[in-house]
Amino acid sequence: MCGIVGISHHKEASQMAFLGLYALQHRGEESAGIVTYDGKETHVIKKMGLAVDNFDESNIGKLKGHVAIAHTRYSTTGSNAVKNVQPIVVTHRKRPMAVAHNGNLTNTEELYSRLEEEGAIFQTSMDSEVIVHLLARAANGDLKEWFLKVLAQLKGAFSLIFLVEDTIIGARDPHGFRPLSLGKLGDGYILASESCAFDLMKAEFVREIEPGEVVIIKGNKIESVFLPGASKAVRAHCVFENIYFARPDSHIFGDNVYQVRKRLGAQLAKEHPAKADFVMGIPDSGNYAALGYAQELKMPFEIGMIRNHYIGRTFIQPTQFLREFRVRVKLNPIREMIEGRRVVVVEDSIVRGTTSRNRIAEIREAGAKEIHMRISCPPIISPCFYGIDFPSTRELIAHSKSVQEIADFIKVDSLAYLSLEGMMAVMKTQGDFCTSCFTGKYPLHIPSNADKLILEKQ
Ligand code: AMP
Repeated sequence: MCGIVGISHHKEASQMAFLGLYALQHRGEESAGIVTYDGKETHVIKKMGLAVDNFDESNIGKLKGHVAIAHTRYSTTGSNAVKNVQPIVVTHRKRPMAVAHNGNLTNTEELYSRLEEEGAIFQTSMDSEVIVHLLARAANGDLKEWFLKVLAQLKGAFSLIFLVEDTIIGARDPHGFRPLSLGKLGDGYILASESCAFDLMKAEFVREIEPGEVVIIKGNKIESVFLPGASKAVRAHCVFENIYFARPDSHIFGDNVYQVRKRLGAQLAKEHPAKADFVMGIPDSGNYAALGYAQELKMPFEIGMIRNHYIGRTFIQPTQFLREFRVRVKLNPIREMIEGRRVVVVEDSIVRGTTSRNRIAEIREAGAKEIHMRISCPPIISPCFYGIDFPSTRELIAHSKSVQEIADFIKVDSLAYLSLEGMMAVMKTQGDFCTSCFTGKYPLHIPSNADKLILEKQ
């Protein structure tokens, strides 16, 4: 998963790009990069780590130009390594170009093999690099034709932002798996994964980029075209963006994420009410559904655990050891609230089950009398091939365990998940979502050898 930003025309483009990355940091904490173009050349700073650690006044000032694109990464194709830090910056026939990608292509290997046969040399192990090679081969004076030709060859999930000299190009795959929005700031336009980036820049939210749409932005001029077949493609917005990934203050897929999460919680309450003294969420991701749950049943909502804000999202650390350490550091239960009480604990989802097990143990240690866990989505049984880094099937706890077995593993008195129908019923555009992680039914063909490290095992 990744966050992407594009600034078409602003005298402090690099600063705006930095604010965009700051707002989108939750979409990936592995690396952050900004590329600008000053009319003659590109300027690039990209490093492993958080945006706030990578950029300061002195280095942002070196990123000259009115045009910028930026990227923050959580790897879904290719390992967490320096060579894979985006945006990818290249020069083709003296023309500087850069790309920032969110999503996962599903025809990576096919394109990669073809390009390799033709003599391409790859510097990264990311699917995104394939795109710049395709661009180099199809180079054309007409930017629109050029990009349409290349983007039409891509399959899978992609929200993309390109910089080609002083032009910014944004594109979203015809299924619309990942979000991408358009904002207006002064004389120019902004593109960003989520609208919360516009709020920080004090930019105006204009609209979402449509599935299959390509926008070509030069200064204050914007042109919109569609990929061939875009109107016929089934929409498949990632429902997990709404459940967990996106920020609650963002507007994505035609809805506000906070309100969606509260509706999920209310629906969960209708399906699985529990008798308890109060409802609490696992902070922060479970809080919104917990509030919806409590309001629906007219039960008290309490903050039963406090989050240490100086530590990032726990799943973002790729090793299990660090993940577990961070889980412990991150949340602390309030004993005075919990001791001797029956609690409903709401969490947005269970992936491996290890975080939940630790958190429940802490609530138990704080003296809870009964713990009833409620999950605001159905059991996750299948991996994601479209850009969420879910572990292999083997590691997904609900793939091999029943709800009762999961309850035993996590050590709760009762456990219940929201139904698939209930989840879809609260979405505004009900037929337009990808729910493959809950159903194992994929809207787009998945190659049998699909793997995060596909380009590292050749
Ligand atoms: P666990 O109990 O270990 O399955 O952790 C569940 C928590 O991690 C929930 O808040 C999930 O939404 C969150 N999470 C979100 N995405 C992932 C992911 N790709 N891998 C692991 N956990 C994730």
